[in-house]
Amino acid sequence: MNTDEERVEEPQPLAIGGTWVWYYAICHRELWLMAHAITPDEDDENLQYGRFMHDRAYQREGEEVSVGASKMDRVIEVQGKVVVVEIKKSSRAIESARLQLANYLVELENRGIVAQGELRFPDERRRESLVLDDSWRHRVEEAHHHIAQIVAAHTPPPVKHVAWCGHCAYRDLCWA
Ligand code: SF4
Repeated sequence: MNTDEERVEEPQPLAIGGTWVWYYAICHRELWLMAHAITPDEDDENLQYGRFMHDRAYQREGEEVSVGASKMDRVIEVQGKVVVVEIKKSSRAIESARLQLANYLVELENRGIVAQGELRFPDERRRESLVLDDSWRHRVEEAHHHIAQIVAAHTPPPVKHVAWCGHCAYRDLCWA
């Protein structure tokens, strides 16, 4: 039998939350910076407005709900069904938002909860539903695999211009 000194610590699985999935789908470098706690300019107007919207929009439906490493904007019940709501200030990065929402649905499914997703873009008065299927499950699994690889690297991915750069709070760091 092993003594305490001989016991080998099992590596803890990486806690990958929905925000990391969002960053992954936007920019691998942004994911790495966030994951390594290199925080962006908190006064960035995009970040401030995003926080304001998440606090104020759909207030009567409650507040954020934490599940594992994720914080879901709202979890509501509609006609007996659980619906996870993700709020975004624009649909500019809608594919990333879809993957983030699908990640939440997988997290809940892994806990035995069947849920549907709804993206909301209040400034655009737009909503979109998302139903978890095998294709989304596969994409989420693949994303987690890649995220683990990116985050484990000792240096960030090199700067590469992506459509999001103009709205990114790291733009001064990357492009100064
Ligand atoms: S400024 Fe562009 S390259 Fe840099 S982290 Fe943001 S999105 Fe990525």
